[in-house]
Amino acid sequence: MSDPVKFGGAVHQVTSLTNPLVKNLRALQMKKHRDETGLFLGEGLKLVTDALEEQWPIDTICYAARGRQEARVMQTAAAVKARGGMVLEVNEAVLGKITRRDNPQMVVGAFRQKLTPLSAVRLAAGDVWVALEGVKDPGNLGTVIRTVDSVGAKGVIIIGETCDPFSLEAVRATMGSLFHVPLVRTGIDEFLGWKAKAGVRMVGTHLSGTTDWRRIASPEATVLLMGNEQSGLSDRFAGACDVLAKIAMAGHADSLNLAIATGVMLYELRRDVLVV
Ligand code: SAM
Repeated sequence: MSDPVKFGGAVHQVTSLTNPLVKNLRALQMKKHRDETGLFLGEGLKLVTDALEEQWPIDTICYAARGRQEARVMQTAAAVKARGGMVLEVNEAVLGKITRRDNPQMVVGAFRQKLTPLSAVRLAAGDVWVALEGVKDPGNLGTVIRTVDSVGAKGVIIIGETCDPFSLEAVRATMGSLFHVPLVRTGIDEFLGWKAKAGVRMVGTHLSGTTDWRRIASPEATVLLMGNEQSGLSDRFAGACDVLAKIAMAGHADSLNLAIATGVMLYELRRDVLVV
């Protein structure tokens, strides 16, 4: 059995749900506390190793006491400690409370929030970014980030009133891709001003689009613009697009889920680059 003290300095062993460290981590379930601290929660060993790989700042990790038997958990804890993060050894009850899960994963971390400024986004030929107008569902947002990562697109821009990309639900749905995909948060005017100057093609997706979704692949730098779950793409945004594409629909559903539609479009845009 590895000894937690081995990896340098104090490993706090915590079993009380009322411990202030635990209370602080639990409070990260609330947006207000995330905003105040600039931190967010993420679960699972893979997520922590993804963050370490990208040199992403990690504030704290907690691992279940049974993790002591797992070399990968102990190595990860040691790496977090070496980078100045706090390491807590906790029991299942504490892990369950922090993550609000009955069967929590063995590791949970608190990470520092990080966004890319829109002014830093520059597209080269062939690059694809996804822009989401007013995305509201954290599961959709996380799934889009994961899909962008999967197809080798470059990043995600969220525009206007959106859900919090750092909520536990959104982070969970990214499956660690949040640490690999640059994320921009911006306002409507700022985004449209940027687009006007950026020299990029903007492909919007719209149920009234007239371009077949299989005709959009291009070597041009492209921003794929997706609409809100309820109201779709606003007129203002639709008017700013160079192309409005529609994905054919055959059955009774009137639209696809946002994340599914994004996946279909991304695989078309990246069709010539992606090989198995
Ligand atoms: N009632 C909304 C509307 O009228 O657009 C439906 C929005 S849909 C759930 C969310 C987003 O997914 C849309 O704004 C669009 O970006 C994309 N989308 C969904 N189905 C699509 C389709 N068949 N063709 C093009 N885009 C689609």
